Amino acid sequence: MKNSNKQYQKSSNDDSESVDSDLHQLFLDELSDLYSAEKQLTKALPKMIEAAQSEELKTAIESHLKETQEHVTRLEEIAEELGESLDSRTCAAMEGLIKEASELLAEQKGKSSIDAAIIAAGQKVEHYEIASYGTVRAWAEQMGYDDAVELIQSTLDEENAADEKLTEIAESVANNDAE
Ligand code: ZN
Ligand code: FE
Ligand code: FE
Repeated sequence: MKNSNKQYQKSSNDDSESVDSDLHQLFLDELSDLYSAEKQLTKALPKMIEAAQSEELKTAIESHLKETQEHVTRLEEIAEELGESLDSRTCAAMEGLIKEASELLAEQKGKSSIDAAIIAAGQKVEHYEIASYGTVRAWAEQMGYDDAVELIQSTLDEENAADEKLTEIAESVANNDAE
């Protein structure tokens, strides 16, 4: 990891609330990482929709794809409101999760367990996002970025709901198989 030894100057004569500029930068870096993650997902989810066998699973991923497009927009909005812009970087974690998912889908092709595999891959993705958004929400709270907190919370709610929906479908898939 690059360590820029930049010295951020804190205005000592200004006691109006000062934001830690290192944390501010870290916040922006993490938002840029999430921006990459969400954009990668908008390309990966259609392949999961196509591979899914149950209508319920297809529909759930389709609706989360629409939400994911909204998540991309929301991240732009957060940066814009702070007068900042997001840089282009690649979220290596999401890249890895998607790579693993596509390998799994290839292996599972034609098997009755394919939906279970898609759900497993999907939940790993959701958990990564939930962890990341939870972190940036906490930082935004700490720095008093109230608008950002609200926008992040909306996304976080949708990520949590998507994760719960996948759990629900996993249970119904398992029950159908047992019948
Ligand atoms: Zn998302
Ligand atoms: Fe990442
Ligand atoms: Fe998501």
